[in-house]
Amino acid sequence: MRKMLLIVLSVLLVGTFVAGASLAGDKLADIKAKGVLVAGIKDSLPPFGFIDQKTRTIVGYDIDFVNAIAAKLGVKVELKPVTSATRMPQLQEGNIDIIAATMTKNPERAKVIDFSHTYFFTGQKFLTKKGAVKSLKDLAGKKIGTAKGSTSEKNAAKAIPTATILSFDDYPQAVLALTQGKVAAVTTDESILAGLLSKLPKGEYEIPDIRISDEPYGLGIRKGNENLLNFVNKTILEMEKTGEAKRIFDRWFGPNSDTPLYRTFTITADK
Ligand code: GLU
Repeated sequence: MRKMLLIVLSVLLVGTFVAGASLAGDKLADIKAKGVLVAGIKDSLPPFGFIDQKTRTIVGYDIDFVNAIAAKLGVKVELKPVTSATRMPQLQEGNIDIIAATMTKNPERAKVIDFSHTYFFTGQKFLTKKGAVKSLKDLAGKKIGTAKGSTSEKNAAKAIPTATILSFDDYPQAVLALTQGKVAAVTTDESILAGLLSKLPKGEYEIPDIRISDEPYGLGIRKGNENLLNFVNKTILEMEKTGEAKRIFDRWFGPNSDTPLYRTFTITADK
């Protein structure tokens, strides 16, 4: 009887806690209560988020960060593919709890959603036929492919006003247009272009050394969820301290990876 009473009391207590958490809009408590962190990720952008052919699961740099945060929370992960254009609406509509999708943080976006400290840093470049582009001038008046809803389309329009920017749903489609000769270049972050280049026939394409912007990536969280944002920030700072963040970088961008890049950042608290 006493045992029964205890069980009833604990069920009531947990119930009150969960209801209280949702009423207060405490997303962190909600995620713990439902036992799952739903993350908006890219599923065709190696090495950030892509399908591993052997395991048929989505893996990558962004996925490793989501997994680490979920492990710290003690919950499972559900991955929901998003595109550059759909990631913010998906978050705003409550379909995902966090964006981990190659997303640059900038003042314009920060008016709509909150961002974690920078967990990856890159810059925008171009992917072209080998030898075709030496400077921005070579792209004047040309067609350039990129993705809808990206910073890349805005930066490119500003850097090369005479170019025609063709925005696709995702970057692999833009690369297809490049291989078909429909665009002279694909433009986005160097880290993404490196992954796209690794899938193209060796020696035919390149990423010329022309950089038109800085792109610091942040994990996106709905405004008004300070507990979740603080938890995410604390976790990624800890990951930097323990070396886990560097290990994740080396796994996907180390010298033996398909996309070797130099790590130009450490994760630090935003000022
Ligand atoms: N990092 C840039 C952005 O957030 C380009 C990559 C992307 O489209 O996700 O827009």
